[in-house]
Amino acid sequence: MSSVVSPCIAYYSLLAAIFAKDRDEVLARKGLLRYEPKRLCRSCGQEIAERGKVYCAACRLIPVACENCGQVVERRRADVLKKPSQHQFCDHLCHGQWLHQRGLPGRRKWNWEKVWATHLATGYGDVRLSRLLGIPQSTVFKILRTMEERRPNSHD
Ligand SMILES: [Zn+2]
Ligand SMILES: [Zn+2]
Repeated sequence: MSSVVSPCIAYYSLLAAIFAKDRDEVLARKGLLRYEPKRLCRSCGQEIAERGKVYCAACRLIPVACENCGQVVERRRADVLKKPSQHQFCDHLCHGQWLHQRGLPGRRKWNWEKVWATHLATGYGDVRLSRLLGIPQSTVFKILRTMEERRPNSHD
């Protein structure tokens, strides 16, 4: 790549050298520097070293809590912000476990929350809930068991 140096830049570079001034500073003052203004991190305000970034290296990662085990892991901010409603997981195992426990989203045939809420409100077991809601008893049983496991442990 060939770069054409404007005679002005060469001139002021020379002046800067002669007077032991910072070349870029001199050029910037004359409006000859093609650098864009300092890029400051949108989050912490620190100067960003790399081009084309909105956040500094440290801020590009943000801590998120794994939806399954609660462990805090770092994720790329851009990825997290792209889908703010998306759940974060520390690894594939946790993701798989979580999917398994809550039933696959979109493929869930029955409204689990409704079954669970009705169970809590009425105290009905799987047999009566099955009749009340028109859901197969084995399914209700599975839903109740899963939701029971997911309930925060009140003992500790
Ligand atoms: Zn930052
Ligand atoms: Zn996890």
